[in-house]
Amino acid sequence: MSPFPRPVYAPLEPYAPDRRPVEVDLSDNTNRWGAHPGAMEAVRSADPEELLRYPPVYADRLRAAVARRHDVPVEAVATGCGSDDLLDSAFRAAGEAGEGVAYMPPTFSMVEIFARMNALEARPVFGEASDDPASLGSLPDPEAMVDAAAGPAGGGLVYICRPNNPTGELQPRGWVEAVIEEAEGRGERSPIVLLDEAYADYAPDNFLREAAGSRRVLVVRTLSKLYGLAGLRVGFAVGAPEVIREVEKSRGPYKVNRLAEAAAVAALDDAEGWVPEIRSATLEGRARLAFELASRGYTPIGSSANFILVPVDDAAFVTAALRQDGVAVRPFLETPGIGDAIRISIGPPEELDRLLKSLDGLYGYA
Ligand SMILES: *Cc1c(COP(=O)(O)O)cnc(C)c1O
Repeated sequence: MSPFPRPVYAPLEPYAPDRRPVEVDLSDNTNRWGAHPGAMEAVRSADPEELLRYPPVYADRLRAAVARRHDVPVEAVATGCGSDDLLDSAFRAAGEAGEGVAYMPPTFSMVEIFARMNALEARPVFGEASDDPASLGSLPDPEAMVDAAAGPAGGGLVYICRPNNPTGELQPRGWVEAVIEEAEGRGERSPIVLLDEAYADYAPDNFLREAAGSRRVLVVRTLSKLYGLAGLRVGFAVGAPEVIREVEKSRGPYKVNRLAEAAAVAALDDAEGWVPEIRSATLEGRARLAFELASRGYTPIGSSANFILVPVDDAAFVTAALRQDGVAVRPFLETPGIGDAIRISIGPPEELDRLLKSLDGLYGYA
């Protein structure tokens, strides 16, 4: 008799972020300006028949819209119920039981959980601190990342979140290229390099093009952040057709519902007006918040995403005090290399003003 639950499951807890309603919620990096207007119109005008029938098995209209928007072949695109679905499916498709998911802490908290759920080992790889400005800073050696992923027979995955959640940092392109090159050099069962680009819409560059052309690179994106569609759960992945096929097999049928697909297609096809406007407003807000925090003596980490991580002495205290005052942020306790910190999502100017006012009320404690 095998025990229930599987021993690896027993210590896992259901995901439980603090979701109590609050006046100004800057805790989850969703779009504080609202949902894409074209997507909302698509949901409003849905035919009742749409609810009655199963959606297309692999969301082919959405695949085509991603292909158009990002100028990649349709066969290079997979879709999912949020990008979480694609991370989970990719882990399952790429890693044999006992192989590793290598990642550099701190990063997206679901990675360790998805690894364990899929019988893979979560293997943190820490960087070496360096004072040499010409070095890659505190990033791990690319070879160490690939070694940690692979089992004795190869395989596994290297997970890189770029820009990284929760730090907002954009790892240097050259370092990511070195990891990819190292993985590609390991022969037939070399690890897949999975780039989680949930925040690449706010960053100066990305790896979409490389993913479409390499059997070792998979990029995962979401419509939950810049497009403002977190409630509909839509994500996609770009990779070589052979890799995409395996990810879709692992994902299973009917994962993108009809309303979500219609909304996502509308948003991707209309990426010229609202989208760049919200992106610019977010980048302006990010620069202003960084400046305001620095002028108050905080040392925010430079961000390429729609949030800023700010080291504080006691993140639990600061988070609770801000919530008391009607503002939610996400606390990070004893973060590797950083210590306690709060992560603040970028919202419209009035929400950032509100946050700053609340922070000023705590001055002397943080
Ligand atoms: C928000 C987020 C996601 C999840 O996106 P969904 O598409 O909503 O599942 C994935 N990765 C990172 C790093 C995120 O911050």
